[in-house]
Amino acid sequence: MAGSPSAAPSNFIRDIILEDLKANKHDGRVQTRFPPEPNGHLHIGHAKAICIDFGLADEFGGHTNLRFDDTNPAKEETEYVESIQEDVKWLGYRWDGLFYASDYFAQLYEWAIKLIKDGKAYVDDLTAEEIRKYRGTLTEPGKDSPCRGRAVEENLELFERMRAGVFPDGSHVLRAKIDMASPNLNFRDPVMYRILHAEHHRTGNKWCIYPMYDYAHGQSDSIERVTHSLCTLEFEDHRPLYNWFIQQLDIFPSRQIEFDRLNLTYTLLSKRKLLQLVQEGRVSGWDDPRMPTLGGIRRRGYTPEAVRNFCGAIGVSKTNGSIELAMLEHFVREDLNKRSPRVMAVLRPLKVVIDNYPESQIEEMDAVNNPEDESAGTRKVPFSRELYVEQDDFREVPPPKYFRLSPGREVRLRYGYLVTCTSVVKNDNGEVVEVHCSYDPATRGGNTPDGRKVKSTIHWVSAAKAVDAEVRIYETLFSKEDPSKVEEGGDVLDNLNPTSLEVIRDAKIEPSLAGAAAGSRYQFERLGYFCVDPDSKPGKLVFNRTVALKDTWAKVEKKQGKR
Ligand code: ATP
Ligand code: MG
Repeated sequence: MAGSPSAAPSNFIRDIILEDLKANKHDGRVQTRFPPEPNGHLHIGHAKAICIDFGLADEFGGHTNLRFDDTNPAKEETEYVESIQEDVKWLGYRWDGLFYASDYFAQLYEWAIKLIKDGKAYVDDLTAEEIRKYRGTLTEPGKDSPCRGRAVEENLELFERMRAGVFPDGSHVLRAKIDMASPNLNFRDPVMYRILHAEHHRTGNKWCIYPMYDYAHGQSDSIERVTHSLCTLEFEDHRPLYNWFIQQLDIFPSRQIEFDRLNLTYTLLSKRKLLQLVQEGRVSGWDDPRMPTLGGIRRRGYTPEAVRNFCGAIGVSKTNGSIELAMLEHFVREDLNKRSPRVMAVLRPLKVVIDNYPESQIEEMDAVNNPEDESAGTRKVPFSRELYVEQDDFREVPPPKYFRLSPGREVRLRYGYLVTCTSVVKNDNGEVVEVHCSYDPATRGGNTPDGRKVKSTIHWVSAAKAVDAEVRIYETLFSKEDPSKVEEGGDVLDNLNPTSLEVIRDAKIEPSLAGAAAGSRYQFERLGYFCVDPDSKPGKLVFNRTVALKDTWAKVEKKQGKR
């Protein structure tokens, strides 16, 4: 999909690529990679990285590899490898090569031997704790390990024995020999290999030494001849080390470029924290619709187009900031508005009886499927003497500016008739349980031949024909705008929103949705966008509210201090 390069809005990474192309660097080749660690499911932050990696390569006719950064056997699982592939495909991207850092273990080992032979790496016997102490701080230089002066032969022999499984975990490491006084802590003889007697999801028990991220990543990029290795800002301080290994080994010079991490208000984007939510049962799983994982937002009804549009709009920069969740929701609404069929559903039903409507009559009313898309056509919606409307669409004593149903008031039933409320039936608690109305037969379809106006149009479903549904309404998973802000001694999970999930078990939906398949998306008129959940069973639909419509009434009430 090589587009015209000048058409897209630019950013600093794109500018670097344009310059490289102009200079014919790498023969005009653009090669990127997306390198997830398979230790959790992808989240919306990864979507940003994916859009940048794949989007830029696509724009310049380049290639993108999917590479699993599987250098830590303890935390990685095949389940994650599979879900990550599914999520990248769902976003709409196709990788060129599918690789694993573990594909390169043999090559990395050989290169480590070369560095030892060149006097650039040594085996250290210090414990992890001692290494930390010897490293020094930002203001104090580090101290040489007693093993730093080891002869090459001894290093080679020890490293070989490390690999052969002679030593227990933690007893030795291989370190690069750089500069214990460097102002960049990553240069103070970083660890290249550690011993881990653990089974790896791909290499099994072949290896008991595993390369560290800093040693594996740049070399993997180089092996794949990645031209632009794009990652988030926390790796900026690692870039000199990334370059150092490539220079010492004299291999293909991939270039690392860092951009800002996506942070979203009311949202935590950390696989570690998301895993904790799953493990502690705070959510129903990685794909709980409240989760910012791609599996979660997909189940909730977000579209890949909306996510891509959002990622395009937020752009890239060199400083970390925070994006409003409302902005993501804006892109979701904008996309769903174009593609979602409109239907009528009543979440909190209140019975309406039209006393002058024939008892057994059912009329099929014509309803527009999508005012944004004429080709979506119309459908039939049954109208009958008994209907359900939203409890919220009736007030016995209407507050100022409330124009919906109330005693004596005439309103339009969308695609139905104009009805006037004549009386109410109350239960023993004095709550209205039934509203009686009369209808004007001349107003079929909601039209007024005499031109009279009503101030409100409300939605409804036929009591006789509606199907039952469970509807799950979501609020933000965290109640704090920045969930990572915690009281001393507290935990981010203290910031969980106790009302993030509301389950409505007795919603009533128009019958055209009776057989709706999981994943189908609709706009419930006046309520929001909803998506059929995979928990649905025949006869028992389950919907997730993807996102609410902008609710003008709630705003008025808020202003009046009533909510
Ligand atoms: P987490 O902190 O959630 O565990 P990670 O950075 O450890 O994420 P990786 O699997 O290592 O996750 O990330 C793969 C790629 O996605 C990396 O290039 C990383 O920079 C990028 N990435 C991760 N989180 C974000 C984010 N919030 N915004 C943008 N890019 C991200
Ligand atoms: Mg990581």
